Amino acid sequence: MTVTSPAPAAIAALHTGLYIDGRWGPAASGATFAVTNPATGALLTHVADGGIDDARRALDSASRQQARWAATPPRTRSEILYRAYDLIVERADEIAAVMTAEMGKPLAEARGEVAYGAEFFRWFAEEAVRIGGDHTTTGDGANRIVVSKQPVGPCILITPWNFPLAMGTRKIGPAIAAGCTMVFKPAELTPLTALLLAAILAEAGLPDGVLNMVTTSDPAAVVGEWMSSGAARKVSFTGSTEVGKTLLRQAAGTVMRTSMELGGNAPFIVCADADLDRAVDGLMVAKMRNMGQACTAANRIFVHRNVIDEFTGKLAEQMKALVVGDGSVAGTQVGPLVEAAAVDKVTTLVDDALGRGARVMTGGVRPDGPGHFYPPTVLTDVHPDSELMRTEIFGPVAALTPFGSTESDGIDEVLTLANDTPWGLVGYAYTQDVDRADRLSDALQVGMVGINTGLVSNPAAPFGGVKESGLGREGGRLGIEEFLDVKYVARPIRGAAG
Ligand code: ADP
Repeated sequence: MTVTSPAPAAIAALHTGLYIDGRWGPAASGATFAVTNPATGALLTHVADGGIDDARRALDSASRQQARWAATPPRTRSEILYRAYDLIVERADEIAAVMTAEMGKPLAEARGEVAYGAEFFRWFAEEAVRIGGDHTTTGDGANRIVVSKQPVGPCILITPWNFPLAMGTRKIGPAIAAGCTMVFKPAELTPLTALLLAAILAEAGLPDGVLNMVTTSDPAAVVGEWMSSGAARKVSFTGSTEVGKTLLRQAAGTVMRTSMELGGNAPFIVCADADLDRAVDGLMVAKMRNMGQACTAANRIFVHRNVIDEFTGKLAEQMKALVVGDGSVAGTQVGPLVEAAAVDKVTTLVDDALGRGARVMTGGVRPDGPGHFYPPTVLTDVHPDSELMRTEIFGPVAALTPFGSTESDGIDEVLTLANDTPWGLVGYAYTQDVDRADRLSDALQVGMVGINTGLVSNPAAPFGGVKESGLGREGGRLGIEEFLDVKYVARPIRGAAG
């Protein structure tokens, strides 16, 4: 592959070691691994490749600092988060450039993620000083029930590559706010944004040992060490359902608290009465954000038979007009997929759908290299048995299936189709009928619903799924609760009857 894009100066200036106990240093083995640019194949840099000894050192550091950090005033924790928020916003261009270089999303989207990711720190800066409790009495009036919240203890945080900043801040923010120390393992495809984030937190005044970060090319070894140590009290993971299940099994060994943000298979439902232009715009967001590489991506698009031709035409026009290229080049709207295996997977899924009778309205042909590109693609008449209806596509492919008939709004039919999946993260529906919107919202088996919108993620909202999409919620008022244990103290009321 040709090397065309120079690594941004920011990458040359990065700390590329492990960050443990407030110090940057190499892996005990001295090993490193390469980080490359998916748009060009160019080598960006090498980062420390942590192993089991490093994992142990990182968790020891987190364990040592836990009591002191838990006793740090909430206002102090809050102010560190506010400072980190300010630093991220100040350095937005630099962070976005690094993110685009290692992950591929267009610069404009990377800047959007920086703003979104920073917002978790501001949100949890506000939450740190609002950790409440409860005070009631027993039914017989004889005892006080005093309920307070305490940090769960050292946490294991594991993030994916698709939102390299926001998935980190969404976990680190509430952990800091709650008074938890942590060991953090970013994805091996995108460690550079995480390195910047750790450096920013240090600059913001986060005490040594509160956040310990280990980059590694062997996640099973590093995380396995943490999971079996007994010293960690919580694991918060975002990634594939398969790895999530492994972690849940490991967590059982020490009965650890878990938060799991796993895969999705989002239905996107366009009813016959929908505002079609709005629905197409919503789908462009729900499908194309991050080149389709999001667990919230619209995966199965069900369009009422009365409007599917018009909808498909409008969608294909917009998809065809998108500018595909290196995300660091101005004007690019669709970057590469993250790695070659991702393009292979999308190609296989599209071929399977075509073999079962789907028709290509635009795209569908994998270009030659360099870079891991796949064109924006619209498939219609996708058979429900197609592999891509049961698999997260994780690419820029919109798969449309008709439902309903001229006599029927098809809501029962589409709900059966939409719920016919082990996942339940998010569902989207477009309709102008309030009752229909309520019916769909109530019956979709998901943790989040977008009605007439293609974007549900927001730091102020509880993000999370049901079924095999996960456990727990991130963001919103519930986000910090994932990092707090409830403690109840019983105290007799002196002089009470009985
Ligand atoms: P994706 O398919 O989106 O890459 P993964 O679940 O493979 O999702 O990766 C998400 C995160 O989980 C990454 O940080 C990755 O390094 C980590 N990971 C992968 N395998 C394991 C494992 N066996 N144990 C713990 N973490 C893992």
